[in-house]
Amino acid sequence: MTILLATLNARYAHASLGLRCLLANMGALTAQTELREFVIGTRSTDIVEKLLASNPRIIGFGVYIWNVDETTRVVALLKRLAPQVKIILGGPEVSYESAGQPIVQLADYLITGWGDVTFPLLCEQILNGPQPLMKVHAGVQAPLAELPMPYDLYTAEDIAHRTLYVEASRGCPFKCEFCLSALDKTAWPFALDGFIEELEKLHARGARLFKFVDRTFNLNIKSSLKIMQFFLDKLAAHPDDPVYAHFEVVPDHLPDALKAGIMQFPPGTLQFEIGIQSFNPEVQALVSRKQDNAKAAENIRWLCEHSHAHLHVDLIAGLPGEDIASFARGFDRLVALQPHEIQFGILKRLRGTPIIRHTDEYGLIFDPAPPYTILATDRISFADMQRLVRFARFWDMIANSGRFANSLPVLLGDAPFDHFMQLSDWLFARTDATHRIALERLAVLVGQWLAERGMDADAAKALVASDYAGKVNLPRSGARVKTEAVAEKSLPQRQARHMAA
Ligand code: SF4
Repeated sequence: MTILLATLNARYAHASLGLRCLLANMGALTAQTELREFVIGTRSTDIVEKLLASNPRIIGFGVYIWNVDETTRVVALLKRLAPQVKIILGGPEVSYESAGQPIVQLADYLITGWGDVTFPLLCEQILNGPQPLMKVHAGVQAPLAELPMPYDLYTAEDIAHRTLYVEASRGCPFKCEFCLSALDKTAWPFALDGFIEELEKLHARGARLFKFVDRTFNLNIKSSLKIMQFFLDKLAAHPDDPVYAHFEVVPDHLPDALKAGIMQFPPGTLQFEIGIQSFNPEVQALVSRKQDNAKAAENIRWLCEHSHAHLHVDLIAGLPGEDIASFARGFDRLVALQPHEIQFGILKRLRGTPIIRHTDEYGLIFDPAPPYTILATDRISFADMQRLVRFARFWDMIANSGRFANSLPVLLGDAPFDHFMQLSDWLFARTDATHRIALERLAVLVGQWLAERGMDADAAKALVASDYAGKVNLPRSGARVKTEAVAEKSLPQRQARHMAA
């Protein structure tokens, strides 16, 4: 095979949309191009062996924050074993601040930004001349309506076993300084009717799990409604074989028409990723995040009470200007709204993001190695940041997992952040670990903690046992419903547990 498009995905279940977009746009070179997807953790020599077995002339790598180190090793091996193979890099991790990156120094060519048009052009020049003179090529951004869509390239195996990523638009009009999409300045939609036809074809081929990578699904309400209607029609036509859709939404923009559509989704069919990031207006202003906090909170509450959407709400710790007390207030405010999961992230300095401008003034110290996590700020010491990192990990295991639904309200009491931080510190002191704690051991520890906090030891054991047995005493909110058998078929496990809560 002449051209290989390769990447290392974070998991097997994550089918690379980016590579498929490139393949869909290879034009006359399509027959000479194939995908090669790997999973991080695979031995570099095994990856190189598989790549070279196809005897390629060009290999294009999709480079992301999660695979840059391993891809660098792969490219280094390739350059030793087969220096004649031309290596082209692309992807967000190499599109900014690329000078000096070891992987860029090893590669022959780099495409920054969009590769749909520029990658085939570059391949054509490498194969048929004249040879490209420049190493770095700024990706041409074609109107999305002119780009063939990649969805036919999802195989039967992808459809059966992997998450299908789809995009109705690219880019984001907002400018949150910690986010790479802040550089986009606007969002560009794909032609809606053509996109829905592609969804239709995927559904006909058996696809049921659709994850939208659009940065902001609810920007254009007319389009959002049309896409939602596609899923509602499928749910109505096939109630025993439901679809499941995941969207990222901005929380302060839910007009009534959208709410009316959302309300029609039955349990287990809709998931929203909602970015709050910080409830502190001064922090929001510092990082140029425009958000109406009151409206956002009201909408999250509405979604919890009036819809069956499964809500993941994101907060980021370590933003400039935010101390632990301010973060704790935001956390408690969010807990009170009762979303199913709070994704507690630690700030990362993604290459190219404007947040770097605050480095000196706010004492931001980032890990120089990917994923460039913040280590300390002028308001949060390294030791406290470590405590927050552990909090996030334990929160995921205990709260987001849905495995301690009965115990959690007791653990959190009337001061969720403070109480959970105490539990987190105690768990770490006991285990010296935040990973590889078996569920059984965690359950015992949670019971012990409750007893240490004054709960009768037998009652604590019984409470944790009720979680462990999968029995749940109280619904999370008035609108929560019990798991329905039909929804479980396509439902991620964690959501199924939350629905039972
Ligand atoms: S955080 Fe979300 S809203 Fe802000 S720039 Fe990024 S994608 Fe856009």
